This record gives sequence, structure tokens and C-alpha cells, in this order.
Amino acid sequence: MTFPVIGVVGGGQLARMMAPAAVQLGFTLHVLAEGPDVSAVAAVASSTVGDYRSLEELRAFAVGVDVLTFDHEHVPGELLRALEADGVNVQPPSSALAHAQDKIVMRRAIDRLGLPNPEWDEVSSVTELCAFGDRIGWPVVLKTPRGGYDGKGVMILDSPADTSRAASWFTGGTLLAEAKVDFSRELSALVARTPSGSSRAWPVVHSIQVDGVCDEVIAPAADLPADLATTIGSAALRIADELGVTGVMAVELFQTPGTEAGFMVNELAMRPHNSGHWTMDGAVTGQFEQHLRAVLDLPLGSTATLGEVTVMKNYLGGSNVDLYSAYPVALAAEPAAKIHAYGKDVRPGRKIGHVNAVALAGESLSTVRDRAERTAAILRDGQDGPAMRKENT
Ligand code: ADP
Repeated sequence: MTFPVIGVVGGGQLARMMAPAAVQLGFTLHVLAEGPDVSAVAAVASSTVGDYRSLEELRAFAVGVDVLTFDHEHVPGELLRALEADGVNVQPPSSALAHAQDKIVMRRAIDRLGLPNPEWDEVSSVTELCAFGDRIGWPVVLKTPRGGYDGKGVMILDSPADTSRAASWFTGGTLLAEAKVDFSRELSALVARTPSGSSRAWPVVHSIQVDGVCDEVIAPAADLPADLATTIGSAALRIADELGVTGVMAVELFQTPGTEAGFMVNELAMRPHNSGHWTMDGAVTGQFEQHLRAVLDLPLGSTATLGEVTVMKNYLGGSNVDLYSAYPVALAAEPAAKIHAYGKDVRPGRKIGHVNAVALAGESLSTVRDRAERTAAILRDGQDGPAMRKENT
């Protein structure tokens, strides 16, 4: 048997969704799980419960894997460098991953590449934060460079008087201050790159955030000018190339019609990403299969779309605590919707699954959105759940 073993650090839904692709292609997935019942454990060939912050446990986990990759970006860089020094095949490598782990490192790299950043600076006190705001104009956005996700670690400050709220964030380290960007919508560019340097991009998508959490994705982004889509796609591929990224990377962006480039980079994620879940049903090659191909340095799959438009709608924990009880109604209501469940207990606001809807011949965007949203609402709130869309999104 020459089929490879892929070690995935972290047992969340991203590791779980790599499993069908691994099974299909005959690869073995081995997960370093945070606990015995995290999302991926039930889906993969084998798992070990262990601490990704322990070099000893990472080393033991890496024995026998052909490549080590990730469900999240939290493994400390020094541990990854130690594994690399041991000869472990870490993909993406620590040098690339640093840009997804630290937003200040990322901002510097985007400047170096001459790509559009919001105005930004490093600040280490409320006084420096106020000076930054006074220089570039209020409001400003303050971010913890490391460890933030789903809007945690992001604070919007309206004026100097407002900055007292930020005092507790200054605990000795440097924070990232950014101009609050006046964007028309948020976009995401998803690409994959192999260690040999081949790469492919999926179409640029519109990602709709609610309270800092990805809520819905429209793929491709409606009415995005073709030249802007091309520029953004090329920028994402260039970032992947120049930073030596391998596997899937998402570049989160702001569309800024008033600026010269028409967009700005928000942040980088180096793993399959929520804004790429639509590819599971809406593209020839889904992001999870592509990630496995990429980290194994195999030829990448086609990123062509399977419908005019695909909509992905997340469902978070809501009033329905028994997810499966809603399946008969949801499946009957929308036979063309594709439900994905992460095997997680329902807790309010927790990401527990998503729904994909791919346009059937001739269907409009609003029909496809309604299908995804209605299905997600039934799952979230039970069979009486409302499916009202906020019109401003
Ligand atoms: P996280 O790491 O939690 O995903 P982000 O940096 O992506 O954090 O910020 C979360 C959300 O906050 C973004 O999706 C966007 O809506 C908003 N945001 C972040 N930075 C800015 C900014 N400079 N200007 C305006 N809004 C921002």
C-alpha cells in the first residue's frame, strides 16, 4: 500500500470535512483531537487525543504521517519549526503560516507586496492608539494580532473618549490598529497551491458577516466587475506564491469602490475556510479535496463551478436542540438543498453546520438564496422557523 497518511492537527469541522475527500481518494486521515468527541473524531480513520501546544505530543503524532497539516492556525510557530527541523513534512510551512497567525506580520507582508492594506500601525498603549486615530481619523479598529476568530479580538473605537474600553487589551504586547474601512461588501478569494508551486483559484465570493461571524456566501460575488475579479484572483495567487503558502488559503477582502484598487486585504487564513464551503457542492473540486491534493503535492483539481451561482448559509445553534428532528421537514421542503452537519451539540450561536444550494438551470440568485436560507432556518429553529432575509445584506 503506498497510499499516504495525512496528519491533521485539530479535530474541528474542517478536519471532519476533509474525511469524505480522503475516503474517496483512498488516503488515511489521522487527527490530533482536542478531546475524544470533537467534530472530526467520528469521521476519520484514526484520532489521538493530544495537546497541540506540546512539542512532545506533536512529535509523537507526527511519527508515521506523510504530511502534517491543520484544522486551525494555533500551533505555535516555534513548535512547527522544531518539527520541521526533525524532518516532518509540515504543510503549510511555518514560514507561510506565520502570516495567518499574526495580523501584524500579515499587514507588513501585504505592504511589502504592494497590495492594498487599510492604513495601519502597531500600537502598544492607549496613548499610541489615540495618536493613531487622531492621525488617520476616527473611528479606528483595534485588533489582537494573534488568536482572534469570528470577530473576537476586534474592537471598533469611535473616538478618543471611547478608547478607555481598550485599556485592558494592552497587557505588554503590541496590538494592530487599523482605519475603519468604508467597504461596500466583504469578499473572499480562495486559492490552493502545492509545494511545487502550481496553484488554482476559485471565483471570488461575497461573504456576509453577522456579528463578526460568516453567515452566508454567494459564489461568485454578484455583479463584481470582471477586471476587479481578475485583479483580486491574481493578488491572492501572488500572495500564495510569494509567501510560500501550500494547501488552501482564503484571502478575506473589503470591496472599496472609492479607492484606486477597488479592494483592500483584510486577513489571510491558511486552511480550508468557511467562505469556501460552497465548493463542496458548487465546484468540480471542493476545497477539502483540493487541500489534501495540495499538501500531498498532487496535481490540483478543476475549480470550475457547477451552477451559475451557489449559496452557502451557515446555521448556528438556535431554538431547535435536536437537529435531526428537523430533517424530515427540511429535506421535504427543499430537495435540492445540501445539508452539512458537523456532529456538534447544539449551543446558542455555535457553528453547527451549513447548507449549500446550487442554482438549477435558469434559477435566479434570490431563488437559490431562499432555498439555502429556508433550509437553514428549519434546522436552526425547527419546523416553524422563519426564513426572513435581512434585505440590506
Ligand atoms: P477575525 O480574525 O475575528 O475574523 P477580522 O479581522 O476578520 O477578525 O475582523 C472581523 C470582522 O470585523 C470583519 O469581517 C469585518 O466585518 C470587521 N472588520 C475588521 N477589520 C476591519 C476594518 N479595518 N474596517 C472595517 N471593518 C473591519
